[in-house]
Amino acid sequence: MTISDTGSVSPATRWHLLPAEKVLEQLQSDRQLGLTSEQVAERQRQFGPNELEDTGGRSNWAILLDQFKNIMLIMLIAVAIISGVMDLMDMQAGRVKSNDIPFKDTVAILAIVFLNGLLGYVQESRAEKALAALKNMASPRVRVVRDGRVQEVSAGELVPGDIMLLEAGVQVAADGRLLEEASLQVREAALTGEAQAVSKRVAADLSEDTPLGDRLNCVYQGTDVVQGRGVAIVTQTGMGTELGKIATLLQSVEAEPTPLQQRMDQLSQALVTGSLSLVAVVVVLGLLVAGWGKLRELVEVSLSMAVAVVPEGLPAVITVTLALGTQRMVRRHALIRKLPAVETLGSVTTICSDKTGTLTQNKMVVQGIHQHSCSLSVTGHAYTPEGEFLLNGQPIDTRHHPEAIALLTAGLLCNDAALQKENGDWCILGDPTEGALLVAATKAGLDRHQLSYAWTRLGEFPFTSERKRMSVMVKQEGGGRITDAMGAIAPLLLPSSSLLLFCKGSPELVLERCQFVYVKGTVEPLSGDRRQQILQQNNHLASKGLRVLGFAARPLEALPAEDSAEETEQGLIWLGLVDMLDAPRPEAREAVARCRSAGIRPVMITGDHQLTARAIAEDLGIAQPGDEVLTGPDLEHCTPEELEAHVERVSVYARVAPEHKLKIVQALQRRHHIVAMTGDGVNDAPALKRADIGIAMGITGTDVSKEASDMVLLDDNFATIVSAVEEGRVVYTNIRRFIKYILGSNIGEVITIAASPLFAFGGVPLTPLQILWMNLVTDGLPALALAVEPAEPNVMSRPPHDPKESIFARGLGTYMIRIGVVLSIIAIAQMVVGYHLAQTIPGDPDRWKTMVFTTLCLAQMGHALAIRSNTRLTLELNPFSNPYVLTSVVFTSLLQLALIYVEPLRNFFGTQILSPLELLICLGFSLLLFVWIELEKILSRWQGKGAGVGD
Ligand code: ATP
Repeated sequence: MTISDTGSVSPATRWHLLPAEKVLEQLQSDRQLGLTSEQVAERQRQFGPNELEDTGGRSNWAILLDQFKNIMLIMLIAVAIISGVMDLMDMQAGRVKSNDIPFKDTVAILAIVFLNGLLGYVQESRAEKALAALKNMASPRVRVVRDGRVQEVSAGELVPGDIMLLEAGVQVAADGRLLEEASLQVREAALTGEAQAVSKRVAADLSEDTPLGDRLNCVYQGTDVVQGRGVAIVTQTGMGTELGKIATLLQSVEAEPTPLQQRMDQLSQALVTGSLSLVAVVVVLGLLVAGWGKLRELVEVSLSMAVAVVPEGLPAVITVTLALGTQRMVRRHALIRKLPAVETLGSVTTICSDKTGTLTQNKMVVQGIHQHSCSLSVTGHAYTPEGEFLLNGQPIDTRHHPEAIALLTAGLLCNDAALQKENGDWCILGDPTEGALLVAATKAGLDRHQLSYAWTRLGEFPFTSERKRMSVMVKQEGGGRITDAMGAIAPLLLPSSSLLLFCKGSPELVLERCQFVYVKGTVEPLSGDRRQQILQQNNHLASKGLRVLGFAARPLEALPAEDSAEETEQGLIWLGLVDMLDAPRPEAREAVARCRSAGIRPVMITGDHQLTARAIAEDLGIAQPGDEVLTGPDLEHCTPEELEAHVERVSVYARVAPEHKLKIVQALQRRHHIVAMTGDGVNDAPALKRADIGIAMGITGTDVSKEASDMVLLDDNFATIVSAVEEGRVVYTNIRRFIKYILGSNIGEVITIAASPLFAFGGVPLTPLQILWMNLVTDGLPALALAVEPAEPNVMSRPPHDPKESIFARGLGTYMIRIGVVLSIIAIAQMVVGYHLAQTIPGDPDRWKTMVFTTLCLAQMGHALAIRSNTRLTLELNPFSNPYVLTSVVFTSLLQLALIYVEPLRNFFGTQILSPLELLICLGFSLLLFVWIELEKILSRWQGKGAGVGD
């Protein structure tokens, strides 16, 4: 595909065979200026969005069919068939009543099975859509040059001809031809299956049939930049890319069943097996005791029991609750990528968080610069490049301080960030640490453009979290108007060469490589004393919580080889220190306190100096008296066992490299902790994968880290993790709440039905149809309303639950059985009263059955109201904090009345009209369950059990 003058597209071009200039020419683009907005708009129309067609996910048919693979529905279908056969036998034997609708139960059950399937389908496809929408939110952003400016755009907006900037951690968003590179290494496993990263080159001698994996001058969509930097021109987008050609796009948001959903599947199977066994026992025992004459009644009882025991509405309610949970989390800036994370979040015991940007604001501001002869402080606000340099409180003219100018020039040239004004505000594109250096240099009157003109960058040894430093090689081209900087730098150069290396990074590591120091325009040997003084000064600044960088330079005879960083960064000339403030996020302190009250230990893991880290950790409450600080080198030396012995006392890990994070997660997990771990870099991916909850940064995080994570923080904020944990706990509590509600009711129904033959009133009180009605409608609607119950006040003041605990743990199982028994006692007592009433007062003698049906339904309404809180009485709750419960209770009660008083419904559901007195009796009995639960709460309060009933 090429763009002709007329904008038409010609057949595929072999971009790897063309020199870079030719590619720029063919795609009518410019390395420095990029495309214009008009060109972009035109090409977006021409080529469409840079998206792969989504071939992942399930088709609609597959989702629908999946609904009917549910064992509970299969059992219901069996019940419908048996019921149909019985109706047929009745018809043949002439036992049909005149107003009876034939095959009513069969048709109704099948209809409900179908409706249930349809409902499940609607819910699941909505959940899939919601996940797809989340996936779009996670879509990567790309830095491009357009209209002569560096801009950040969404990957979908790329067009052929765009100049895209690549750096370690980004996922390449379109196919492209390289224009520039510095130590660029790309992992192309997504395309070639080769796990080893490939070093890319701008100039490569390739032939027509060079395979994809060897086309070193091209980059391809879906591959990951693991090291270095590069600039490439986009050649292909969307389905035209190499990945597009072979694409079966992996869903970036995975809808795996959660452990709870898996356990619920197992539970359904157990319930089905259990209910079939129960049916067998009832039929066999019944036949032994009462003989074959009772067969029909026994079969009816069995069918009703089989239907009653199965919580038909439960899977749907769980799916909806999890989906709603993810939506609530996204509103609080936590994007869930893997559904099981919602549940695991509730049981997190340790949160390991990065410092910079997560606990701090990542808005660096240079506070001071420290050279051999003096220290200067810097005034100003945020990124606005206006401020003064003060010496002992008095403003000075930096032009008279060559040491300061040399230091600031180094900071400006050894820099990849950009300072821009957007909507009237100054902002940084790129690394804020480098941005702060740009701002400081601009305050001293140094001009970025003039400096880059005077010194051309010829190479670099990029920054990595392992190296903790970065160097650039520059060549002095000419002075122009920047005589101050030229004059300050001149003493650093060799007479024979205009090549210079500037290095900046962790002060200890840079200083280690220095042999000289720059003093007032001359280069002197660096004495041991001076070295100690610099280290002390570094420690002093770091212990105030400041981020400190060291700077050095080295004259070069010739340009070093790309892989010679270790040898080249030696014998350096020390230029000085720069300290910058990165204030803690205001909300972080409170979030840390909330963690502690929730039984979760926050831990800081940072690449920064241990004293800086400790000062900030103490300020935020992360480090407490007696806590230990471990550094990267400490971690290198300790065995897994030694680390395991310390890990619970260490609250700060400083100067760590990403691979140490994996060690820390493993040690914590061996101590049975459930670990949430944040990360943003390429090399954080293994730790993120290993952690129970891997958390990537939405703003500063690399695509690779996002890909490996379970959750993405859209605002990079520590407080968001704590909010997500809270939401996770609310979801889990609500799931447990409606499981209690639904299964408690099922147990009550089963006992009532099983007991009914004992009373020999003749007939089963509840037909399968009525039971289905209860399980799906009168239980299902309030259960859905309970799913959105807001957090209980104690949700973040109790310890995390054990993820391996049974869903029935902490009293839930006994609660269900207890409530089931109470409900059945109420229903049976009512059955006895109702039966005698129906026999003594004229009317339909079967009215007692409708009374049992109504009592069970209304009792469940009381249950729904009472179960909203485990600890607080219903009267203490604001009915409007979850208006859905009250609404569903009123609505369901009205539906229940309609079943009794609206004739067609009455005929269909086989109910009988009740008198007002009978209705009142039902209401009176059903209220008893509500009263019982409230009494349980009072009792547990009285006994001083904080957790509440069934919790
Ligand atoms: P966190 O892991 O909490 O985000 P961090 O940002 O301090 O902490 P890194 O980005 O790995 O971690 O930085 C580690 C160290 O490397 C810093 O303390 C600093 O000394 C040095 N450093 C950071 N950014 C740069 C940079 N752009 N160029 C050179 N050195 C840097």
